[in-house]
Amino acid sequence: MTKQGKNFKTSSIGNIQKLGRVTLNAELALTGSEISINELPAGVGVPFVHAHKRNEEVYIVVKGKGVFYVDGEEFAIEEGDVVRVDPTAARSIAASATSPIRYICIQTEAKSLVQHTQNDGVPVKAKTSWIK
Ligand code: ZN
Repeated sequence: MTKQGKNFKTSSIGNIQKLGRVTLNAELALTGSEISINELPAGVGVPFVHAHKRNEEVYIVVKGKGVFYVDGEEFAIEEGDVVRVDPTAARSIAASATSPIRYICIQTEAKSLVQHTQNDGVPVKAKTSWIK
């Protein structure tokens, strides 16, 4: 489904079980974050270590198992784990030898969040099909 309005945009990224790697920036015209959905097959790791200039990253493991590397330390990760990494940390990720890993990576500028949920959300007088 693709739809766009004055204040929103939707897009279909296809079969989420067979994507490989998809970034949503151009797809959704994101302005405050970079979001990617990634999958590494069993036994495959990202072939480089990287850091960032300004952005922190959050990795959300939605399926499978793997290994995460941060600044010389490696640890196991699996479905349900979330990892936040400071911009300057050296990081990489790999699937385990026996399981693929699917994860979402959200990149945002470190220390840019000055409000969230209850401080930023404001009630709006509107009705939906499920709000009576
Ligand atoms: Zn990165």
